[in-house]
Amino acid sequence: MADEPQGERQADCLFCKIVTREVPATVVRETETTIAFRDINPQAPIHVLVIPKAHHRDAATLATAAPQLAADVLREAGEVAAEEKMESYRMVFNTGSGAGQTVFHAHAHVLGGRGMQWPPG
Ligand code: AMP
Ligand code: ZN
Repeated sequence: MADEPQGERQADCLFCKIVTREVPATVVRETETTIAFRDINPQAPIHVLVIPKAHHRDAATLATAAPQLAADVLREAGEVAAEEKMESYRMVFNTGSGAGQTVFHAHAHVLGGRGMQWPPG
């Protein structure tokens, strides 16, 4: 996995399949480079995932390989928050299985609609 080609569609990647619509999702926003859809197992009243359409395994890898695309993801997270009328929200990038990453296609969790605790679990 570590040496997979960054930016190229991965046949066995769930989120690449959401980009191509092979797997259905509730899409809330889409741009030329990104797509945002509701998390299937929401952890807050509003829980949206923002992903680059190109495959990169995690947020830092994305930012290294394609900084403008990383910026697109961050900007779109803000657009989702605005559309969902969230003044406060949490943006999370789980990185590595020990931190809870289960899908190795970079994604921002955008969570809101309730109070948030700190530190996270
Ligand atoms: P992570 O654990 O940070 O890798 O986040 C992956 C997220 O993808 C989890 O919050 C899952 O609930 C979510 N997820 C998994 N499959 C789907 C799907 N088919 N549609 C939408 N969200 C999904
Ligand atoms: Zn992918």
